[in-house]
Amino acid sequence: MEDFLKLTLSGEQPSQKSGENQILLWEWIAEGIIQFTPRQSYQKAIVLSAGIHGNETAPIEILNQICTDLITGKLHLKEQVLMILGHPEAMRQGVRYLNNDLNRMFCGGRVHLDEDQETQRAFQLENTVSDFFSHQNHDVDFYHYDLHTAIRASLLPTFALLPLKKVPYNTTLLESLNAAQLDAIVSHNCAGKTFTSYTSEQFNAQSCTLELGKAQPFSHNNLEDFEATNVMLRALLSQTNLCPTENNKTKYFSVIENIIKNNHSFKLNIPANAPNFTSFSQGEILYSQDKQDYIVENEKIWILFPNPDVKVGLRAGLILKES
Ligand SMILES: [Zn+2]
Repeated sequence: MEDFLKLTLSGEQPSQKSGENQILLWEWIAEGIIQFTPRQSYQKAIVLSAGIHGNETAPIEILNQICTDLITGKLHLKEQVLMILGHPEAMRQGVRYLNNDLNRMFCGGRVHLDEDQETQRAFQLENTVSDFFSHQNHDVDFYHYDLHTAIRASLLPTFALLPLKKVPYNTTLLESLNAAQLDAIVSHNCAGKTFTSYTSEQFNAQSCTLELGKAQPFSHNNLEDFEATNVMLRALLSQTNLCPTENNKTKYFSVIENIIKNNHSFKLNIPANAPNFTSFSQGEILYSQDKQDYIVENEKIWILFPNPDVKVGLRAGLILKES
């Protein structure tokens, strides 16, 4: 098998669509999608995805290196894994997305959109993941890690976003997040349209979106910045210890409001380049809309993904409280 990333960027099909070594069998499923199955029985079915936003290159490079190490047998696979490079065309063009954000197209998020390459890709990803989880034995647990980098600076550079879940997350997922030594973990308070919302809602997978630093072009990443996550993912795949760390640095937040831009009167009281996790204190004006000010009531709140320039009707940011 050729280098998975190079192959995907070329838009070609592999000369050989499946293969094996002493540890595993692999199968190329579709562009940017490859499945690895260990020869031994396994307990976890894991989806690892990156490049849902095409310009978020560091996680793509991390997943590609894991693929190479699986194919060469350097990494001893003990769980089944579906590797996904989410948006090959956006990766080729070095852009976040083409017409619309692919990571808002799941769980019905594309019904109001005209069909195009991106909506078709969302449909293909849903189907592929559905096939992957539907063929598992009843005693196999489902996991999904969707890897991203933020488009703006962040006062807390690495963090996880957990989709809304009715039951608590399992110990393995929480231990893996701890091992990744993240700066923050943010829990959503309502259903979303992201890839991890889909796997969480439809298959009750242990799903999380990981935001790992800032987006850079290919080969301009310092992958050592992401080493803790890389090591954690490899430990998960090879059933080695998740190295419990003395990790007191993680801060926990929950979303208290989605800020929706309803019309062009919307004004966010924050500079366009303000970093993620910028905080506001009680009494400050966070945003204004329709001649009304949103004044902070909590002692302190934080803002995530502030973006006053979104299209009308879309999310201009998330308001968080510490939990
Ligand atoms: Zn992203």
